[in-house]
Amino acid sequence: QTKKQYEELNTKTAVSYLINLGLIKTDEETTVAEIGDGNLNYVFHIISQTTGRSFIIKQALPYAKVVGESWPLTLDRARIEASALKEAAKVVPELVPKVFHLDPDLALTVMEDLSHLTILRAGLIAGNQYPLVAEHIGKYLAHTLFTTSTFGINPQAAKKLAVTYSNPELCKITEDLVFTDPYFNCETNNFEEHLTPRVHELWQDKELKKEVAKLKHLFLTKSETLIHGDLHTGSIFVSETETKVIDPEFSFYGPFGFDIGAFLANLIMNLIAQEGHQQDSEQKEDLQNYLLDTIEKTWDIFTSEFKKLWLAKSIEPFSELEGYVEEVLTDIWQDALGFTGCKMIRRMIGLAHVLDVDSIESAEIRLRVQTSIINLGRKLILERKQIGGVLELVSTVEGAY
Ligand code: ADP
Ligand code: MG
Ligand code: MG
Ligand code: MG
Repeated sequence: QTKKQYEELNTKTAVSYLINLGLIKTDEETTVAEIGDGNLNYVFHIISQTTGRSFIIKQALPYAKVVGESWPLTLDRARIEASALKEAAKVVPELVPKVFHLDPDLALTVMEDLSHLTILRAGLIAGNQYPLVAEHIGKYLAHTLFTTSTFGINPQAAKKLAVTYSNPELCKITEDLVFTDPYFNCETNNFEEHLTPRVHELWQDKELKKEVAKLKHLFLTKSETLIHGDLHTGSIFVSETETKVIDPEFSFYGPFGFDIGAFLANLIMNLIAQEGHQQDSEQKEDLQNYLLDTIEKTWDIFTSEFKKLWLAKSIEPFSELEGYVEEVLTDIWQDALGFTGCKMIRRMIGLAHVLDVDSIESAEIRLRVQTSIINLGRKLILERKQIGGVLELVSTVEGAY
């Protein structure tokens, strides 16, 4: 097949694209909207009024808007995202959207429409609780991370897969925006005036910076398994009964702990931000307890599912050694805690923020929340080898706001 010329879709050509695929017919009446956040990708939502069927087309744009400028950014990320969704569907099909079509030339994916669900970040900001999200994400993490590691597949297969998912440009975004820039006086940073004294203190904090440097090195070198790479609460659709993980365009062979840390960090930031969202103190406590519970359950489900897979499916002959799986999980835990801290600090100081905190109206409460998040992030990074288990994490979080 000859390579097609890349061009940006619009609402008209998005519909023609589905007609060409045979997913809708020429005479069907359709409504279309572009619903993406507009920084990196288009997301077209197409509904056939005739049949009631609907689709999502996500298309990568050849540039990213960073600090008001446009930077070229590889279109290959569309292939990586669609492939990672398909890889996850091999083990947890119920937890990812179906991929109907990948077009690497146009850098687009046609996938299942999940508009009946809510983005977890938005749901949590609104004060909702999702009873199954911990179980689902714990399972998602265990199954996706175990299966593509050298415990789940042979080292040759893992090395080949790692080449397929080589993702240097998107990794660089994380290396810079998460692990480097927030710790230096760098123009990509983006923090509120009132945080300046705390940020200047952090730039002088050599003890912290050395630990962040080590975590950055882990991110750069620890090629353990195929990770999602951007598993914040904006990448998760939820309802009372369903959970779906989207947006794995940052996927690559990285450390086990990175996705776990991303998820935990975003739960913790929402929990602390509830100080500025919930007026009623009983309701606030209820929500915060729910979030602490979700943290605990996610880790518990992750470890129990991981151990089950280890027993049933490990291809590593040493895996029968007593205590080995526990030591592997301890390493994952310590890395995850470090990444949790890094993800928290970068959302307060670096380029990309979280709405959970930014939408707090009172500047006074915002400052308090931002400071608590930075201080807790620092503590998790420095004490990641002392915080022995998830209950200790829960009490550390409880003491931090
Ligand atoms: P980006 O990589 O630009 O962040 P996302 O994949 O996170 O793109 O999608 C951006 C937004 O588009 C989501 O927050 C959601 O509102 C919408 N969206 C993405 N995928 C779907 C889908 N499969 N079904 C419904 N809405 C979607
Ligand atoms: Mg986005
Ligand atoms: Mg996204
Ligand atoms: Mg994305």
